[in-house]
Amino acid sequence: MAPTKIAFFDTKSYDKQVFDDVNKDFGYTITYFETHLNEDTVPLAENFGAVCIFVNDQINEKVIRMLESNDVRLIALRCAGYNNIDIEALNKSHIKAVRVPEYSPFAVAEHTVGLMLCLNRRIHKAYIRIREHNFSISGLMGSDFNGKTAGIIGTGKIGKCVISILRGMGMNVLAYDIKQDDNFAKDHQVKYVDLSELLESSDVISLHCPLTPKTKYLINDTTVDQMKDGVMLVNTGRGALIKTSALVGGLKRGKIGAAALDVYEEESEYFFEDWSLQIISDELLARLLTFPNVIVTSHQGFFTREAMTNIAATTLDNITQFFEKNKAPNEVS
Ligand code: NAD
Repeated sequence: MAPTKIAFFDTKSYDKQVFDDVNKDFGYTITYFETHLNEDTVPLAENFGAVCIFVNDQINEKVIRMLESNDVRLIALRCAGYNNIDIEALNKSHIKAVRVPEYSPFAVAEHTVGLMLCLNRRIHKAYIRIREHNFSISGLMGSDFNGKTAGIIGTGKIGKCVISILRGMGMNVLAYDIKQDDNFAKDHQVKYVDLSELLESSDVISLHCPLTPKTKYLINDTTVDQMKDGVMLVNTGRGALIKTSALVGGLKRGKIGAAALDVYEEESEYFFEDWSLQIISDELLARLLTFPNVIVTSHQGFFTREAMTNIAATTLDNITQFFEKNKAPNEVS
């Protein structure tokens, strides 16, 4: 029997709009909370069979225990990554978690390449200049991507889409992944190499692996030192793939020539929120925003109409599968 009530956390008006539309086919009673789900807010989940969470809700052991005591049986993530859940604690509980493993790799890949092109041709600077009626192009010189080398770390769904686009632009592609897809590599003329070779040989490096204990701070002082001088670094994966202090250090000494981040290791307080009238106390984020060769977007890689609709449909189907068919096809464990 399906739960009649689902508590959604960390929601915005656009979540409500898309989920209400897709929910016409499911008929769930949804309560939308704006707040994150965490130790302080978990009492809100009382009397709900399922909670639906997003990337910055923090599901630690205490939250899992409190959800369990509130008879919540399912955590439905409306995203792909699940680094914000304590998996060990989850596996010890009676609660299951499901996610949306694929909704539109194109959405994230296109945003990634958009960031690369914007950085390379200084479009973010040109936009501001022209708004000020400054039509000078001094300082805006980029370089052809055609013939340059991109290094893609993580060749799953999103990494592969990025590779296809970059190959279409005439870039050479080096890739690093713990599981190589040799057929894809052959079809797209991609060369798998070890991480050191990728770092040493790439003009542009883009991160598309999940955040796990093994990939946390994959980009650190040591790996930054291995990169080509003036490298462009792009992260649309997860913030903590990069040790931000190492990125800032690399930018300050010119080792890193440009960086684009759609994710940031301490994003949860800031991203998705309007801080325009407040003071940013996060020194590293504030420092990053001072660099002319850095673009930060607020975890919007996924944010297309198609992706949002797919996320809503898969999330509500995950919930139906679990409560009506006792199945969890997209289980996180
Ligand atoms: P995926 O599971 O299809 O691919 C991940 C790839 O990373 C796999 O090929 C895997 O083998 C590889 N990998 C795992 N551990 C690795 C390691 N230690 N070193 C190198 N490679 C490793 O996932 P995906 O759909 O392509 O998504 C990738 C990541 O993008 C997600 O985990 C998520 O964190 C992030 N993401 C971001 C957004 C956004 O809006 N910015 C949206 C969706 C996903």
